[in-house]
Amino acid sequence: MRFTRLRLNGFKSFVDPTDLTIAEGLTGVVGPNGCGKSNLLEALRWVMGENRPTAMRGEGMEDVIFAGAATRPARPFAEVALSIDNSDRLAPSGFNDSDTLDISRRITREAGSAYKVNGKEVRARDVQMLFADASTGAHSPALVRQGQIAELINAKPKNRRRILEEAAGISGLYQRRHEAELR
Ligand code: ATP
Ligand code: MG
Repeated sequence: MRFTRLRLNGFKSFVDPTDLTIAEGLTGVVGPNGCGKSNLLEALRWVMGENRPTAMRGEGMEDVIFAGAATRPARPFAEVALSIDNSDRLAPSGFNDSDTLDISRRITREAGSAYKVNGKEVRARDVQMLFADASTGAHSPALVRQGQIAELINAKPKNRRRILEEAAGISGLYQRRHEAELR
């Protein structure tokens, strides 16, 4: 599974529709302070099902919606769409019947989030499970937030273990066991 495209609309500082191609290999995001580099990474995490406002540097989940600026009014919604090349067919079963996966998340003030995979409505849980084993998920150590290295160094042993388990790709097993126990 490989990320190929990220589209943002009304997400944080990306008030105008923005369409980014993600090429093969390493991608660097450069720009002056405050231009939206971290927001871009947060958009990626958000569309994969991140639900902790703190991880989005906000107080509530609605804080990801463009809040307005001196010259522009606030937006009523935010939307992020991620395209994935699934030609290796490594997506989990249930999502593995096409070469491309288009995942989108939209949040409206007061109405919460709605997710779609290839145009079909799904639950937040489905999207989170899609990424649970792919070591790309919202909490994945593959996405290193600004300041996170310092946090890792200063983390309590239990939290550091959780990060290492995620990196080893076994945290998805815990999630699946938890799901199974709930049934
Ligand atoms: P640095 O180099 O300092 O790390 P950066 O490129 O990572 O900067 P970001 O933190 O991604 O920058 O972007 C910060 C900008 O995004 C700020 O100008 C902030 O006002 C704006 N911003 C964040 N949330 C919203 C929102 N909901 N609505 C409008 N603007 C927002
Ligand atoms: Mg930043």
